[in-house]
Amino acid sequence: MSLPFDDDIAAIATAPGESGLAVVRVSGAGAVAVADRVFRGATKLADAASHTLHHGWASSPLEANAANAANAGSAGGAGGAPLDEVVAAVFRAPRSYTREDVVELSCHGGALPARHVLEALLAAGARLAGPGEFTLRAFLRGRLDLAQAEAVADLIHAETRAASDLALAQLRGALSERLRAFASRIADCAAEVEARVDFAEDVGGVEVPAHVIGAARALAAELSAFVGAGAWARAVREGVHVPIVGRPNAGKSTLFNRLLGEERAIVAASPGTTRDRVSEALELGGVRVTLSDTAGLRGTDDAVEAEGVARSRSAMDTGALVLWVHDATRAPDAEDAAIAAGLRGRRVLLALNKRDLPGAEPAARAAAIASALGAPPVAVALSALSGEGLAELRAELARALGAEGRGSLAGAVANARHAEALARATAALERAVAAGERGEPGECVSLELREALAAIEEVTGQRVSDELLDRIFGRFCIGK
Ligand code: GDP
Repeated sequence: MSLPFDDDIAAIATAPGESGLAVVRVSGAGAVAVADRVFRGATKLADAASHTLHHGWASSPLEANAANAANAGSAGGAGGAPLDEVVAAVFRAPRSYTREDVVELSCHGGALPARHVLEALLAAGARLAGPGEFTLRAFLRGRLDLAQAEAVADLIHAETRAASDLALAQLRGALSERLRAFASRIADCAAEVEARVDFAEDVGGVEVPAHVIGAARALAAELSAFVGAGAWARAVREGVHVPIVGRPNAGKSTLFNRLLGEERAIVAASPGTTRDRVSEALELGGVRVTLSDTAGLRGTDDAVEAEGVARSRSAMDTGALVLWVHDATRAPDAEDAAIAAGLRGRRVLLALNKRDLPGAEPAARAAAIASALGAPPVAVALSALSGEGLAELRAELARALGAEGRGSLAGAVANARHAEALARATAALERAVAAGERGEPGECVSLELREALAAIEEVTGQRVSDELLDRIFGRFCIGK
């Protein structure tokens, strides 16, 4: 993707549907001229100062060659049929979203006015913008780095307050700032090694000084901890899927409904009647948690139920955390052992349900299940029926999802792409340390340091392929 763009792009910036207002914007070196072919008001936009608003009418454009003459003669009334009453906002480069000249035409909302205004702008010489193209231009013109541009999409897609706070912090540069600090320390290490190599008498024989190796080692550890601490932020950004598993009649549907605060899954008194996996999302400590109520896990001849059972097995395979509901009045048996075997190595939150019943022995059941799992799960005794213990379960769920790190969301590594690139940076730093310790020549160490730097620059976008840009900006809507 290369500069400069010499065309003008236009798109509707607001969501479709009935609304009070809609905004159509146009950006590019010729944006003001394009808008002037459509806008009829007391002032020609070409004469308007930056950051000013102008009332007028949008109309279908004059012929491009006649436009200038007509505009010069009479600003009001000339041109084609009026399309809508509008307010034009003029932003001149570089003080605009894209750093280009931008005109935003606010018109009436609804299905048609914005579309008519957009069509007029296209007829006046603009091209329809691609997905995220305004933000792409802001990135390519250096107003935002790539992590900040991605935060724009995150902000638009955010479904919880925590997710929008996280995106906003990233948009304001919190992550970029952290990464710039890492990058400059790595660059310092590389520069020091390279200076020694450059001034060395004999080629290939420069050892890397211990303090540089030490600095690289510290950087690797810090970067790795930094990425690790972002696990919660990634859960906040992406949401998590938590399947509810357990034997028929353990109370899974009842708990599912309790947690969601509404009746949705089928609650039945006879075993084996919850046949489908029902997924619903709820917010837990800022994370969008998708809970799936699964069919009872047990052997069955019923084809429909078997299908439901197969689905809950696959839900168990994909979830990050599994909520296992066990009826605390029952001692675990061979079927529970089979469930435990399927969950080995998984993170399990054990809900010992029906503690309101006389035969409930949550502590003993938890111990038996812990030995079947091979590791003690986090266990909560509760009654899905009465709601007793539910607050503890919610708290444990939030904790199991990594809520401890919540205080440090700003600037956290919330994006899997970023986490992957930074893991590569860490690995390169570790290789640099190992090479230095083995006494390998400075050139080898500096090569690894440069690789670490390049991986960080993939996050901020100093180094990025067109393909990656297409992938990132393809997530955006048109008009953003
Ligand atoms: P599922 O098959 O695991 O989804 O179980 P259900 O949610 O359908 O519950 C099975 C039966 O147990 C229903 O009659 C529920 O009302 C009852 N039940 C569920 N949770 C509790 C509880 O905490 N205490 C008591 N006493 N009954 C419960």
